[in-house]
Amino acid sequence: MALSEFINRPSARSEKRDVHGIFAVLALCASINGCANKAVLQQVPQLAAKTAVNDLAGQCERKEYQDGDIIKTPVGDVQLKGWKLIVDVDAADAYLNKFPGKSFGFYLSDGLSTRLEYPDDLTLRGRRTLIRDNRKYLILPTFPRPESGKINLTLVVRQKGKEVEQTSYSLQLATNNTDKNGVPAKQVISEKPLPQVFEIQEFLNTIQSQLIIGRPNVVIYHPDRGGYCKDQPGCGPNGEFVPDSGGDIFVDMEYFAEPRLKDINDGQMVFFHEYAHYFMNDRIEKPLKQENHHAIYENYKRLLRRTGYKPDDRKRSLIQEQKEIKALREHPVFKIFREDSYCENHLKEKDKPLEMGHPHENYKELFASTLTTLKYFPQEFIMRYGSLNDEDKKAVAEEIKTLIEIMGVPLMKKFFVPEIETVKAACGI
Ligand SMILES: [Zn+2]
Repeated sequence: MALSEFINRPSARSEKRDVHGIFAVLALCASINGCANKAVLQQVPQLAAKTAVNDLAGQCERKEYQDGDIIKTPVGDVQLKGWKLIVDVDAADAYLNKFPGKSFGFYLSDGLSTRLEYPDDLTLRGRRTLIRDNRKYLILPTFPRPESGKINLTLVVRQKGKEVEQTSYSLQLATNNTDKNGVPAKQVISEKPLPQVFEIQEFLNTIQSQLIIGRPNVVIYHPDRGGYCKDQPGCGPNGEFVPDSGGDIFVDMEYFAEPRLKDINDGQMVFFHEYAHYFMNDRIEKPLKQENHHAIYENYKRLLRRTGYKPDDRKRSLIQEQKEIKALREHPVFKIFREDSYCENHLKEKDKPLEMGHPHENYKELFASTLTTLKYFPQEFIMRYGSLNDEDKKAVAEEIKTLIEIMGVPLMKKFFVPEIETVKAACGI
């Protein structure tokens, strides 16, 4: 996948560094006087003294802002609405007119280090404006992590480009949250009650404690963002991905909030596919012994041979050819592992298909799609397996056999494919 390319683009890199720098300074200030949510950089001593006096006069309190609250900032009001921040553009303009030479930026410590620079950063993708009572507002979406709904909003004010003041505000994004029993829970984050997100946390907790495996940073992001890696090569249809480095999993909130399938939660299934990538990064690609890694690659080549394409002759660019993609995608040995070929039967509305899975593209996708297909559609998989010709059956059974050998039945059964024994028996393994 080309995620690392995207992450390492100069703009994304400097954005990350900037924000980390700011939070490092904030953490330092907070540790000095305990409850500082206002900090002025040391290089401007007269301002530092002024703020210290204000803090002593009783401003040193850390309020946590909830859904609907108005955050009074020096540059105007900001309202916290669900997962969105609504910035008063007219107030910001008035502030800048009053103080020539000043500029400011809002920074969010969310999973994606979102930021807004004013006045010169208003054209970023996914940004939306809103007119209310003849005033102009700008919507700044936030992207919380499932393990905590809390993030910080930091305002940095600059004078002729030099930072002169920082203020941080603690935001609690969790609103209307319930756990899977319908009981209000602090830890689950969403603008709607989404017990499915809670189940992902449980899955991560259990697998982490029982397998001693790392934990990916899961970001359920807001559709306002328009897809985190949209239009990047190797990115899923809704902008979801797991980077090659194996650290983060991003899933569009819409999969949870507006599922297209009747009996399966789209968001959980997308998450599970991405987690399979994470597992493979951690357990199969990283270790010094590469036999398992090679075995999965050999299986991909075996399936590819069944389609009539010769893996070793193919140039990378050839796979982009529509004809070849279609032939690989629709061939029974790949289609049987493609999630969306089963989703058709589970849709709420036939005209809203859920596109998911591309096992024909490479061996990593084959691994993730195989586990996801077997987990969510074991019975339909078995039926389809029964209708394959003998040679295709052999290649498909080999893929499953390899995964069982690598992961072991108990592990697969517990975390990945509850019905693995049934699948195993049906495939004669
Ligand atoms: Zn994938």
